[in-house]
Amino acid sequence: MEYFDPHIHMVSRTTDDYETLAKMGCVGMSEPAFWAGFDRGSADGFRDYFRQLTEFEPKRAGWYGLQHFTWICINAKEAENVRLSREVIAMIPEFLQLPGVLGIGEIGLNKNTRNESIIFLEHCQLATKLGEQVLIHTPHLQDKYPGTRMILDMLDDFSDLDHTRVCVDHVEEHTIRPVLERGYWAGMTLYPTSKCTPARAADMVELYGPDRLLVNSAGDWGPSKPTAVPDFIFEMRMRGHSESLIRKVVYDNPLEFFRQSRNFLFTPREIPETAS
Ligand SMILES: [Zn+2]
Repeated sequence: MEYFDPHIHMVSRTTDDYETLAKMGCVGMSEPAFWAGFDRGSADGFRDYFRQLTEFEPKRAGWYGLQHFTWICINAKEAENVRLSREVIAMIPEFLQLPGVLGIGEIGLNKNTRNESIIFLEHCQLATKLGEQVLIHTPHLQDKYPGTRMILDMLDDFSDLDHTRVCVDHVEEHTIRPVLERGYWAGMTLYPTSKCTPARAADMVELYGPDRLLVNSAGDWGPSKPTAVPDFIFEMRMRGHSESLIRKVVYDNPLEFFRQSRNFLFTPREIPETAS
């Protein structure tokens, strides 16, 4: 089945991974700006990273017929440095103009600190001012529930924010409900060490229905599996779910969410007509 991975950090992956993804049915991906496994020392370090996301990765994906899109921001982990964060935020608008840049993300919280909150709010102010889509990272493990509540409370103060253009990512069983109830999209991340498994993601689709749900692999610099979305497809098939339901979650939904961005110029593959 063809699918779209809405959240995967391909800068951390090899070219062979692009080839494997293409063979597994992946047709495209979106890559949020995030931590790269180490703290960068200057705004110039981020400028080079954003160039990698907007220039090199789309080219590398294209070698295997994949379409690569991206999001720009300073991530929550490095947002602890407020001065550096503001220098990075100042350069975001020029990158938002580039082809394939879908919006501001993944912003959010890491350890739920005051500085992280300050920088999260400044990103949100920029997004609402410029009318950009937003992709939000929620914290890990014991920080996830309080961090998600903090994020949702902060978002409540943006009265002109269009909730259907915001995705709150890495939801789990204890955080998915308030995200969906407020009208946001929710991302489920399939990850071997934390977050969610294919079975737990399938449970949540069964409990909440497929609307406004996304499934992604995160595929990053840590232990992670870039082909986790096909694992979810397999899990859903083994449970007897219809191909159309599975396709909605792994293909139609990401396209519906991303099409709200002016830079999402996605060309679906031609599917040959079968003989009738
Ligand atoms: Zn991420």
